[in-house]
Amino acid sequence: MEPKVYTDQDLIQAELDNLIKHCVNCHSDNDARLIRKAFKMADDAHRGMRRKSGAPFILHPLAVARIVSEEIGLGITSIVCALLHDVVEDTDITIESIENSYGSKVATIIDGLTKISGVFDKETNSLQAENFRKMLLTLSDDLRVILIKLADRLHNMRTLEALPRDKQIKIAGETIYLYAPLAHRLGLYAIKSELEDLSLKYRYPEVYEEISEKFKLTEERRLHLINHFSIPIIDRLEKNGFTFDISGRPKSIYSIWQKMHLKNISFEEIYDLFAIRIIFEPKPGIPEKTQCWNIYSLITDIYPPKPDRIRDWVSTPKANGYEALHLTVMGPSGKWIEVQIRSRRMDEIAERGFAAHWKYKDKQDQESELDKWIKKIREMLDSPDQDALEFLDDFKLNLFATEIMAFTPKGHIRTLPTNATALDFAYDIHTAIGNQSIAAKVNHKLVPLSHVLKSGDQVEILTSATHKPGIDWLNYATTMKAKSAIKAALKAEIKNRTEVGKQQLIDKLNELNLTPSSRILKKILPAYDSLHKDELYSKIGSGIVTLDNLKEILSKNTRNKYVRVWNLTLGRSSGKNEPPGHDYDSKGTLLLKETMVDSERNYVIAKCCNPIPGDEVIGVRQADGSVKIHSINCSSAIKLMSSRGDLLVPAKWTQHKVLSYLARIQLSGLDRFGIYNQITTTITKELNINMRTINLHGHDGIFSGTIDLYVHNTSDLNNLILNLMKIKGVESVHRVEVKE
Ligand code: MN
Repeated sequence: MEPKVYTDQDLIQAELDNLIKHCVNCHSDNDARLIRKAFKMADDAHRGMRRKSGAPFILHPLAVARIVSEEIGLGITSIVCALLHDVVEDTDITIESIENSYGSKVATIIDGLTKISGVFDKETNSLQAENFRKMLLTLSDDLRVILIKLADRLHNMRTLEALPRDKQIKIAGETIYLYAPLAHRLGLYAIKSELEDLSLKYRYPEVYEEISEKFKLTEERRLHLINHFSIPIIDRLEKNGFTFDISGRPKSIYSIWQKMHLKNISFEEIYDLFAIRIIFEPKPGIPEKTQCWNIYSLITDIYPPKPDRIRDWVSTPKANGYEALHLTVMGPSGKWIEVQIRSRRMDEIAERGFAAHWKYKDKQDQESELDKWIKKIREMLDSPDQDALEFLDDFKLNLFATEIMAFTPKGHIRTLPTNATALDFAYDIHTAIGNQSIAAKVNHKLVPLSHVLKSGDQVEILTSATHKPGIDWLNYATTMKAKSAIKAALKAEIKNRTEVGKQQLIDKLNELNLTPSSRILKKILPAYDSLHKDELYSKIGSGIVTLDNLKEILSKNTRNKYVRVWNLTLGRSSGKNEPPGHDYDSKGTLLLKETMVDSERNYVIAKCCNPIPGDEVIGVRQADGSVKIHSINCSSAIKLMSSRGDLLVPAKWTQHKVLSYLARIQLSGLDRFGIYNQITTTITKELNINMRTINLHGHDGIFSGTIDLYVHNTSDLNNLILNLMKIKGVESVHRVEVKE
């Protein structure tokens, strides 16, 4: 027998027959007659037109009508509108002639659908927030406009393969930005998931392929796991007289990708690739809610539940009507598994949105149920006091998207990850703009670069040609592009500073008739607390180190690794036999050096009281001739003063700019934007104090920690503390002991 060759005409006829045969909400011959009439009008109007795929155009309105009827569950009016949805836009048929043939309701809906096409299907104009809002407000006169548009988009996504790549990306982008959230809001879960998956497939084909491939590879193991987990539950539920279906529901590719993307984890690390769904036929005479909890109880008799993972949308359904009881239990393989419990009715609502509500209402009541539902959605869309951008936010466009779309002042869309900042936006436009950015205007309001953007924000970046990236930028750049550009700029800046610093040092040495040598560097590196010459050059170049005291440092005979030197002026002790090696000044005071090396030290700081420059001190001559320095308030010094007055040496700190000692301050306050930078600037620039280590942590808007720094004396330290206290957000600053 020869295989039958199907003609276009056969295909079209088959589709039409199926549309009529599967129409759930068609109730009379009149309905079928109306469908045929609308089909005839569309078929004539689109005659000869083909889609990009080569298929006859009429197959598209037929497919949209089937989605409207079978997947969304709408009635005859919507089916007629779906069949005619493209005729006014693409053919000579006018709204008036439609109104004459089908009445004003159908005409209004088709007029709405035609207007939407005008807003976004034409040209490549980027979708503007304002346009979107206008569209929704005008068209939500009849919500069926949006539902038919969703069906139209779904069919276009299903047949996207035929379009060129740039069109695919544009349409897939709009779909994830606008249509998927819309479907979610309307409770159309199945359509929402399909739109998301298809959108991912065309936007990131490799990612999509990779996840689907891995998903297939792990399927067998997953099925085994599902069976192993389900068998005891099936047994228990049957014993308790439940009629039910149980299945392992794989997560959508999109939701897996989202999880990988959001939590930055690999496919292998996602444990909940599926959820177990139990759909039960309710026993008569017992509330569904009671039966849900009954099943919950039977399951948790077998597997221990995770207490913080119970979601009860049976007692309080979600805004879009979703009802179910979710729990997470510890499965036999030691992994958490989500279980969703729904009655048959709840399941239909979950999959098909409001259309399912009908089925469980009195048939007579259908239109009014739809009206009530439409009214609710319209109130949501209609709040008069919102401007377009707020409206976009409220419309949950960014609620479950992993990406946001922000607009340039000219209305171009930039796609960025959720939590992207104004700085990320700047770098997304151009590295040069990023590098020179100083602040941003978001929706015409001035904000810092750290400002987190939301979908629909309009962002203008303010730049200055002389501005340069700071190290703190890395704290609020989130995209790879911004981070690597900032690091590159900082590196270049450090290199530049190093060269400037090197030249400054050479110039300064030249003034002293010296040339740079490793001997000189060896001497000055520790004095400036630098481990290698590049560090020193960089510190000089950025002004952290000034070379005012270079001559003094070079003339000092220090071989210490770190300079922790200060001067102490001591009076002559009343004792005899002054040991050699102590320098006295003209008044008979002794000049002493504190160094890291014990043997070079000619006095020691008493461990009992640890005085520092600025503290009032007293020296006590030791048996070996050295002098031990105590605080005047030290109890052991007081004891010595009263018993061994002969050993006492009057001592007084003298100030010396070169000399520094290590002190630690503890500070805390509000973790305000830019505060770290202000603290470190205050310390290094304004007060010219060297920091050794910074140890500040921010948590929940509060920061705290310590800074180790080299100061000259207590008055410097007190000054610094006062200046730090002046910084907005700093709550407390005080000196603490340095315990090395
Ligand atoms: Mn269409």
